[in-house]
Amino acid sequence: MPLKEYQKKRRFDVTPEPEPALAEPGGSEFVIQMHQASHLHWDLRLADEGVLKSWAITREPPTEPGVKRLAIHVEDHPYEYKDFEGVIPEGEYGAGTVEIWDSGTYLPLLEGEPDSSVAEAIDRGALKLRLEGKRLKGNYVLYHFDKKGKNWFFFKMKH
Ligand code: MN
Repeated sequence: MPLKEYQKKRRFDVTPEPEPALAEPGGSEFVIQMHQASHLHWDLRLADEGVLKSWAITREPPTEPGVKRLAIHVEDHPYEYKDFEGVIPEGEYGAGTVEIWDSGTYLPLLEGEPDSSVAEAIDRGALKLRLEGKRLKGNYVLYHFDKKGKNWFFFKMKH
């Protein structure tokens, strides 16, 4: 981690200086697919280590701070799923229409845990990320509030 020393000297919840993001410049891909299944939801998918880490968000993802959405952690999807749009036939799992609602890149913000990975942050139950999408832009949080279940919050941070 080349920025370890820079990071060690600063408290990024106090200083207005930039906090380093742990990812290649440009970040990794993310997509949000609007899925009109038995219940309309928005599937957030983050590319990481060749798969898509996935959450089903039960209401429209927030573009402004102050709105918390329930995000159900679901199984990893194959990387190729990020481009999927179409109709899942009646009687099949997730039957209904899927369309891409947003896409772009994300940077995991792993301050305080400089050597960790996205997968480890997910295991710990909290992932901060900077989204650069067409609709969603800025710093967001995924937070696992229900440790025995799959219920997370997804919300935009104030800064
Ligand atoms: Mn879905």
